[in-house]
Amino acid sequence: MSRADFDYEKLLSLLPRHKLLKPVDLKNANLPKWPWPPLKNYNGFTSNERIHTWKVGTYLLNIGAIAKPKTCDICKHKKPIGFHSENYYNILNDPFLCKSCHSILHLRFRHPHSWYRLLDTVHPDKETWFSILIVEKIDLARFLRNTLNKKAMNRKFGTRPRL
Ligand SMILES: [Zn+2]
Repeated sequence: MSRADFDYEKLLSLLPRHKLLKPVDLKNANLPKWPWPPLKNYNGFTSNERIHTWKVGTYLLNIGAIAKPKTCDICKHKKPIGFHSENYYNILNDPFLCKSCHSILHLRFRHPHSWYRLLDTVHPDKETWFSILIVEKIDLARFLRNTLNKKAMNRKFGTRPRL
C-alpha cells in the first residue's frame, strides 16, 4: 500500500478507545510545560498540535483521568510505556508504547527495515493500527480537516475541545 491509497478510516477505526475516567476541565487545567525544542510534523500534525496533545495527555495521566495499560501495544512487553499519537486530535485514541517500539515507529521512514523486523517479531495475528502503517509519510491531519466537517468529526472521532 502507498500513500495514495492509504485507508485513513481504517487506521482511525483500529486505534484504541480509552475511557475518560473522571470529568476534566481543560480550560482551568494547569497543563505541563513542553521542555524540549519544537517537533517535526507527524501524520501532517504540526509541532504546535503535537505539543498541545502531549500537554493534555500528560495532564490526563497525571490526574488519573486515563488508565495507563500495563504493556506496550506493539511488543506486549511490560516495560515503561508512554502514549503515542497517530491522531493528535483525539488523545483517547492513543496507543501506549515502550521507548524502543516508539522510536522504531517514528524512524520507520528512514529505517524501514527496523520497522519491518519489529513487525516480524511481534506477529500480529490480526490487522492492527500498527500493522497497516506504511513507511511513506501520510497526512491524517489533512484527511481529518478536509474530509470531515466539524460535526462529523465530533460524532465519529471526538475532537480536541471535547477533552
Ligand atoms: Zn514495545
